[in-house]
This record gives sequence, structure tokens and C-alpha cells, in this order.
Amino acid sequence: MSKKSIVVVGSSNTDMVIQLERIPRPGETILGGQFVMAAGGKGANQAVAAARAGGDVTLVARVGKDIFGDTAVEGFEKDGICVDYVFRDKTNPSGVALIFVARGGENSIAVAAGANGSLSPADVHKARRAIASASVLVMQLETPLPTVEAAAKIAAEAGVQVILNPAPACPLSDDLLQLISILTPNETEAELLTGIAVTDESSADRAADCLLTRGVKTVIITLGPRGAFVAAEGCRGLVAGFEVQAVDSTAAGDVFNGALAVALAKEQSLPEAIRFANAAAAISVTRLGAQPSAPKRKEIKKLLDEVQAE
Ligand code: ADP
Repeated sequence: MSKKSIVVVGSSNTDMVIQLERIPRPGETILGGQFVMAAGGKGANQAVAAARAGGDVTLVARVGKDIFGDTAVEGFEKDGICVDYVFRDKTNPSGVALIFVARGGENSIAVAAGANGSLSPADVHKARRAIASASVLVMQLETPLPTVEAAAKIAAEAGVQVILNPAPACPLSDDLLQLISILTPNETEAELLTGIAVTDESSADRAADCLLTRGVKTVIITLGPRGAFVAAEGCRGLVAGFEVQAVDSTAAGDVFNGALAVALAKEQSLPEAIRFANAAAAISVTRLGAQPSAPKRKEIKKLLDEVQAE
């Protein structure tokens, strides 16, 4: 475990994706979709995105003792992720997500958490040494909140930066927020956490202020194609996104967070790290699926160089 390593604590799911003309309404059946199965789950997506972006990554997660779990672990190993703390749950099945993707990239997702719901503070304590010696801890909210809190505490006490992507959104205590170095809500999540509707830079600015007041050190509100708004001491404003042809926005936020962690572990400045994360996430929206869409470091660098050259 090097001081530059990244630990991700979070969920692992198998995504079953149907691409359709549009998202079906309740009670409606739409024929003509295309089916793809791919590895997903916000935690696993962040871990894979970070590994492909050049990070030294350990994943702390729970999957079932089933074929989905086997396939997930094989995938992590293929991406060079340390799976010492990917626990196999004897009683619960692996998590599954059913995803509709409409033409143009809009999606609608239903998740059965399965083994993710049993990832416990005790599991996190087993990974204590890995967390305390890392450079960055990355988390989201698809695993139980006490688990997220336990990991944040270990990291904060050891001086490890904590990135929390508050998705899916739920109310968070000030005690937890005070342990977070970087909170990365999207527009909807920022609104749920602050009550401020985020529609542009000035509302993002106000929502970020509200979260800073509650004890978070840095707030990055992701704004889809527009990029991300950052608010921290000595750094405030929009870091513009990259113009691409969107196909599927699934996991854009996860790829953003994984890539952000890598850039920060490599000691890039905050604006540079956000630019790197914007580039990685932009590439991911041009491809279908969660983990299959996460780009390699070389691809991210290529996009950054191309845009620089323009
Ligand atoms: P989430 O996927 O969590 O809803 P966003 O939609 O804000 O989050 O996307 C996260 C990041 O992905 C953005 O900050 C941006 O960098 C990138 N991104 C998302 N959609 C696009 C797009 N259509 N074109 C380019 N980049 C995008």
C-alpha cells in the first residue's frame, strides 16, 4: 500500500441495461430495445475508473457467492484493483441494477442492493490499515450510512482526504460532513442537500456556500455537459466540461469521482484535477454501460492534449 494509493468503499452491482427510444412510463411496455449486461455499482465504477485513470486502487465491498460476484471480482482483478477486502456474502445475493437508457443518454435506474446492504463498519475496520495509509478515500451512498461514517472517521483521523459523492442523495449529518474533504453532488443532489435549486453558476455558488457552512472543506457540484463548479478556500468557479456526443450518461459521476481521486493522489492542483475528471467523464458518456465506459489514462491524456492544442 503506497501513500499515493486510493481506497474506494462502496457498492458493486451487475447492471442490466436496455437501450430504448425513450424511458417507459409506469404501466407502459416499449418493444425494440437492445440488452447489454455490464459490471456496475457506484463504488465499483469509481474503483475501475480510478484504476484505468492510473490509480493504485483497493476496493472495499461486498458481493454474493454467486456468478455475478465471481464475474465482478474477475473484472476488478483484470483492472489491477486489490480485492483483498471484497467480501463474499454467504446469505445475500450480489447487487443488481435494472437500467433504461433513452436515445440521447437520459437514464432511469432501479437497484436491488443485495450484499451491498450488508457492507458493515466491521468490514471497513478490517480494511483500516489500507484506508489509513491511503492518499484518498472515495465513497458514495449505495452502502449503509454507518459504514460510510466509519470509513470517513478512520480516514479523517489518519489525515487521508475523503471524497464523498452523495449519491443516491439522502440527508447527511453535520458530523459526517465535517469529515469530508471534497463533496461532489450533482445538481439534483445539491438541491436535496441544501434546498437550493441548482440551475446555473450563481445557484451552484449559493448551494456550495451552504455546504461549506456545514463543515465540508471543498464542494464540487457537477453540472453535466457544462462541467463542474468548485468552491473551496482560494478556489471558486466553473471548470468547463468537454464537448462530446453523449450516448449514455450512466456512471458519468462515478468516472468523474474516480478520475478526480487519481489526479489528487498524484498531487495535481484542484482545478487541474477537476479538468482531468471532466475529461474522463466526458469520454465515458460517449460509451454505453458503467464500467465498460471508463476510459484509460492514455485516452484521457489524449483528449486533454487535443483540446489544449485547439
Ligand atoms: P451524474 O452522472 O452524477 O448525474 P453529472 O451529470 O453532473 O453527474 O456528470 C458528471 C460529470 O460528467 C460532469 O461534471 C461532466 O464532467 C461529465 N459529463 C456529464 N455529461 C456530459 C456530457 N453530455 N458531455 C460532456 N461531459 C459530461
